[in-house]
Amino acid sequence: MSATATRLRRLAASTAAIAAVAGGGVILFSSVSANERGGGPALEAMRRRINDPTILVPSRAVQESALIGSSSANPLDILVIGGGATGSGVALDAATRGLRVGLVEREDFSSGTSSRSTKLIHGGVRYLEKAVFNLDYGQLKLVFHALEERKQVIDNAPHLCHALPCMTPCFEWFEVLYYWVGLKMYDLVAGPRLLHLSRYYSEKESIELFPTLARKGKDRRLRGTVVYYDGQMNDSRLNVGLACTAALAGAATLNHAEVVSFLKDEASERIIGARIRNNLSGVAFLNSSPPSQFSSL
Ligand SMILES: Cc1cc2nc3c(=O)[nH]c(=O)nc-3n(C[C@H](O)[C@H](O)[C@H](O)COP(=O)(O)OP(=O)(O)OC[C@H]3O[C@@H](n4cnc5c(N)ncnc54)[C@H](O)[C@@H]3O)c2cc1C
Repeated sequence: MSATATRLRRLAASTAAIAAVAGGGVILFSSVSANERGGGPALEAMRRRINDPTILVPSRAVQESALIGSSSANPLDILVIGGGATGSGVALDAATRGLRVGLVEREDFSSGTSSRSTKLIHGGVRYLEKAVFNLDYGQLKLVFHALEERKQVIDNAPHLCHALPCMTPCFEWFEVLYYWVGLKMYDLVAGPRLLHLSRYYSEKESIELFPTLARKGKDRRLRGTVVYYDGQMNDSRLNVGLACTAALAGAATLNHAEVVSFLKDEASERIIGARIRNNLSGVAFLNSSPPSQFSSL
């Protein structure tokens, strides 16, 4: 998230204007930074709104008119295209920094890759293996970062995430030692972010826990298993949660809304706008002054 934040800060600080356009009207990305929007109390009020269980996500009509209402007089700072995990996360991050945000998704939130993941929130155990064998501090930093993110995600959405036991079958005593030591190191690196301690289970215990586990490999007998813990999430619900929270934080968040083309400023050759189509109605947004016009594509 921090790289995204840095990019967003740079974006907010830049004087360049980018616009989302439909039918000739423009949503200009302004050059105003989040801090200039009155960071402290405004952000505090937003946080309270997000945490208030009685507050509802604004309706689709409200979201749509917020997007349509954006114009050169009332510009967006950023238009996020795609409501997968990345886009929804970026929109939430930007909105909670006080930026004016639009988020559009051409199908439903999480309809792309973000509902088809393995659903693991892993702390990067294989990066730890690389860190040790290649003496690579960069890989170790990656593990620390992933473990921190794992904790954040589980703490933020405990109703959608939980610890998942992962069982590693071992058919040689050497494998038992290798995985046990490696996964104990993973526990150690996790420190206070540890979910549960890893441990060894004998062959008998392993079969009791996992009756369909193969007792024999190729000419080899099961010597036991090493069980460690990573996180698991409901990826699509988590994604929808991010999009809804972005909407609560003030982002104009619309699904079934597709960016169909961009508008370029001919002099600078920069993208300054986007034409957006409501895929439910087939109607294009007109983000112009006056802002309340529509046109069929
Ligand atoms: C097999 C597999 C397993 C994985 N397992 C894990 C895992 O266990 N844990 C983990 O953390 N990550 C996992 N990942 C990675 C993770 O799923 C992806 O990093 C993440 O879903 C990417 O999200 P995204 O928002 O970038 O892409 P997407 O979810 O694909 O979102 C892009 C969105 O953009 C929309 N879009 C495109 N064009 C437009 C347009 N013109 N206008 C409007 N909207 C548009 C699309 O409809 C789509 O919804 C896995 C990935 C794969 C492929």
